[in-house]
Amino acid sequence: MYRQETVIVALKIPTTWKADFLDAMAHSFRDAIQIGLNAAQELHTSSRKRIHDSSYVVMRAKTGIASDYARMAVNQAVALARSYYGLRKSKHQKRTSFPTVVNANSFGLGVNAYAVFERDNGFVLRVSMGKRGSYVWLPLSVCAKFRDKMQYVSGDAKMFRRDGKWYAMLPLKIPYTPTVCDGKPSFIGVDMGIVRLATVSTPDGIIYFDGKEARYKREHFVDLRRRYQRVNRVDKIKDMRGKEQRWMTDLNHTISKRIVEIALQYENPIIVFERLDGIRDRVRASKRFNRMMSSWAFRQLLSFVEYKAEKYGIPVVTVDPRRTSQTCPKCGHATRSNRPSQSQFRCVNCNFQDNADGVAARNIAGSGARLYCYEHPDNALSISIDTTGTVGFWPDGVQDQRASRSDSNLASSL
Ligand SMILES: [Zn+2]
Repeated sequence: MYRQETVIVALKIPTTWKADFLDAMAHSFRDAIQIGLNAAQELHTSSRKRIHDSSYVVMRAKTGIASDYARMAVNQAVALARSYYGLRKSKHQKRTSFPTVVNANSFGLGVNAYAVFERDNGFVLRVSMGKRGSYVWLPLSVCAKFRDKMQYVSGDAKMFRRDGKWYAMLPLKIPYTPTVCDGKPSFIGVDMGIVRLATVSTPDGIIYFDGKEARYKREHFVDLRRRYQRVNRVDKIKDMRGKEQRWMTDLNHTISKRIVEIALQYENPIIVFERLDGIRDRVRASKRFNRMMSSWAFRQLLSFVEYKAEKYGIPVVTVDPRRTSQTCPKCGHATRSNRPSQSQFRCVNCNFQDNADGVAARNIAGSGARLYCYEHPDNALSISIDTTGTVGFWPDGVQDQRASRSDSNLASSL
């Protein structure tokens, strides 16, 4: 079982010839993507195969980049073409023109084009120059927090330049084994939402994080933004965005701290989140900026919880988000019709009713338990197996009707 993460690491200031190499790579890469995009535009396609077949050889001949770089450039062209064709489909974006790459500030680093080595108490990124055996060695400046993670770097990476400084964006594949000793684990399910930032399911009940003040403040930001948009004050909107993000970061620190504190009250806790690709579905209705802000906030909350939980050795796992908000925790019936409104859950099969966020949090905890058993069939958990195959099975306590309470500690700390 693996957890995927990305780290962004700054390069130590490179020597002149290395800086020239990075700059040249960025330019070649830009030109290569443009060749791919030209092919996509000519053929009216976003098919990877068609773009690859008509541009890969040209790319390599014209820009001189090695095969792994050309593969990354094709990927990038395909992604850009797809987002263009995707945007054109939505009616609000009729006037979008076909993408062109203007800036030469990044390049893709295919999995075979680089490696990370530990050397002299630090880390060095070895980047292939194209020919076999010719490399550029780029010392990295890795902060203490990331040092232990560097051994897990794996997969296609990316180099980019911001304000004249180069960074490497490195994917991590971190092996993870739930550390459960004797006794059965307690699953703490966390549902992230728009109205309530988080709803937590514990073996004793649901805890809602919905400090009134926080909700008021969010509405206040939305309101202000709308007003500035109306009068076209881009400067004010930008200014406010910063304020909102700082406020959100503080709030996420508080909530994540509380979630970990809650988990610590149980034996062998395992914190369960939804994989974040699922959030998108549930906030589809909201406006573009809200959606952006929310997915950023969700990502941040998850990473804060992971970071804080790590200190206590509490595993944090993510589960498949599909149907977590539509499945009945009582009978397992799963359908869209179980959600008459955004906030309500009513099972069309057994009539079970509850708050929708609470139901989702409970289902997330249940999915975590299922995942755990799947990975560890030897661990004797007392889990009832649903033979109808609609939901799978539930850990003790998750299925029970439980008391609900708001998190008073959070409210008082806001
Ligand atoms: Zn039901």
